[in-house]
Amino acid sequence: MELLPIFLNIRDRKCVIVGGGSVALRKANLLSRAQASVHVIATSISEELEVLCRASNGAAMRQPFTPAHLEGAALVIAATDDGAINLAVSAAAKSLNIPVNVVDKAELCSFMMPAIVDKAPVLVAISSSGTAPALTSKLKEMIEIMIPGSIDKLANLLGSYRARVKDTIANLDQRRQFWQDLLESEVPELIYAGNEDAAIETIEQRLRDRLQAAGAGGKMGEVYLVGAGPGDPDLLTLRALRLMSKADVVLYDRLVSDEIMQKLRPDADKIYMGKEQTKQGVEQETINELLVRLAREGKRVLRLKGGDPFIFGRGGEELETLAQAGVPFQVVPGITAASGCAAYAGIPLTHRDHAQSVRFLTGHLREGTLDLEWEHLVREKQTLVFYMGLSGLQTICEQLIAHGMAADTPIAVIQQGTTRRQRVISDQLGSMPVLAKKTGIKAPTIIIIGSVVSAQEKLSWFGS
Ligand code: SAH
Repeated sequence: MELLPIFLNIRDRKCVIVGGGSVALRKANLLSRAQASVHVIATSISEELEVLCRASNGAAMRQPFTPAHLEGAALVIAATDDGAINLAVSAAAKSLNIPVNVVDKAELCSFMMPAIVDKAPVLVAISSSGTAPALTSKLKEMIEIMIPGSIDKLANLLGSYRARVKDTIANLDQRRQFWQDLLESEVPELIYAGNEDAAIETIEQRLRDRLQAAGAGGKMGEVYLVGAGPGDPDLLTLRALRLMSKADVVLYDRLVSDEIMQKLRPDADKIYMGKEQTKQGVEQETINELLVRLAREGKRVLRLKGGDPFIFGRGGEELETLAQAGVPFQVVPGITAASGCAAYAGIPLTHRDHAQSVRFLTGHLREGTLDLEWEHLVREKQTLVFYMGLSGLQTICEQLIAHGMAADTPIAVIQQGTTRRQRVISDQLGSMPVLAKKTGIKAPTIIIIGSVVSAQEKLSWFGS
C-alpha cells in the first residue's frame, strides 16, 4: 500500500488554499462541505470564492503567499498555475509538518485527494495512488451505480439504533452478527422502498427475539462449507463471497489462494488446516471436532476448501459429523479444479468429435501404488482427469498403456490452473513422464488425458 487512507475531521479547523481560480473554488467547496474554516490566499480571488470563505468563518486574503499564512493550519492545498508558488507552498507546509496537496503534482503532495462518492453519512473514497486517475473515475461510476440512492437513510436509521443494540447485546461477536443479519433481512429493501415504519418494526421485533433467545441460553452457530474454486478469485460464487464476508472464523486449506484469502472479513480468525499427507486421518478428526466446537460457541464458521467441497474434498465426512452433532450447515459448490483448469487451458472436457464422457479420478499414490480399475479407464471417447496425480504420473501413463491405451494419446499437465502462475505442458502419454520431470512441473496439478487435449492448440487463450 502506497498511502494510508483516512477520513480527517476538519470541522472548524483552519484550512488554507493557495490560489483564487476555478480549481481553488472547487477545493474550497469540498472543504466547506466538511465544515472547515476556509482561508484563501491569492493575489486575485473571485467574488464567489470570497463569499464562500466568509460563510465558512474563514478569510479571503488578496496577498502573495508567505509561509506565515500556514500558521495553525490543519491542511493546505496549492491550486495555482504558478509552479514556483506551488513548490514554495509544498516546501513550507512540509517543513511545518502540515499535510499538503498540490493539485496535479503528485510529487509535491504529502496527501492525495481521493475521488469520492458522497452519500453522507456514507462516504466512499477511491484512489489509485496517483497512477491512473481515469480508472479512479471509472470505479467511482461503478460504485455510484452499486450504492442504493437511500443508503443515507439506512445508515441514519442504523445509527439511531447503535446505542440500544449495544445495551441489548453485550457480546461484540454477537452484536456484529445481529447487524449483519439485519443487513441481510428485508430492512434495507424496506428503507429503499420508503417504508421506514415497517423497517423500524422489523428491527424492534429482532431486538425482542434477541432478548428472548438470550433468556433461552445462547445461540447455536452455523457452518458454511464453501468451495473457493481453483484459484482465480473471479471464479468465486456470489454466495461464497457473501459468506466469506460474514464468517467469524475461517478454517482454510493449503489450496486456497492468497488472492482469495484477501476477500475474507479482515477481522475474522483464520485457522490454517493444511494437512500433512501422512497423518490425514488423525487431522481430519480434529477438523471435524473443531467445526462442531466453534459452532457450539455460537460462531459462524467458514470451512473454505479449494475447488468444490464435494469433489476430493472430504466435505461429505465433515458434514456427517456436523449432522450428528445437530449443527446447522450450508454447502456452497465451487468450480472444481478439473473444469477450472480445463477451461483456462483451452481443453473442452467433452466434445462431440472426441469425448462423450469424462471421469474424475484420484491419482494419489497409497504406499507407492495406485489401485484403479485400469481396464475400465481405457475407453474410446472418454476423457480422464486425474487429481493429485503428479507423483503417480509415471504409474498412470504406464498402466494406461499396459491396458491398451495408445502411447500417442494426448495428455496435458496443468500446474496452478486459473492463477497467474498457471503452466500447461502437453505431450503424448508415452513421453509425458520424462517431459514432466524435465520441465520441473510442481503440484498442485491436474492431469487431463484423451483426444480433447489436442483442441488446446486452437483454443488456448489464457496467459497467451
Ligand atoms: N476439492 C478440490 C480438489 C481437492 S484435491 C477441487 O474440487 O478442485 C487437491 C488436488 O486438486 C490437487 O492435488 C490438484 O490435483 C487439484 N487442484 C486443485 N487446485 C488446482 C489448481 N489450481 N491447478 C491444478 N490442480 C489443482
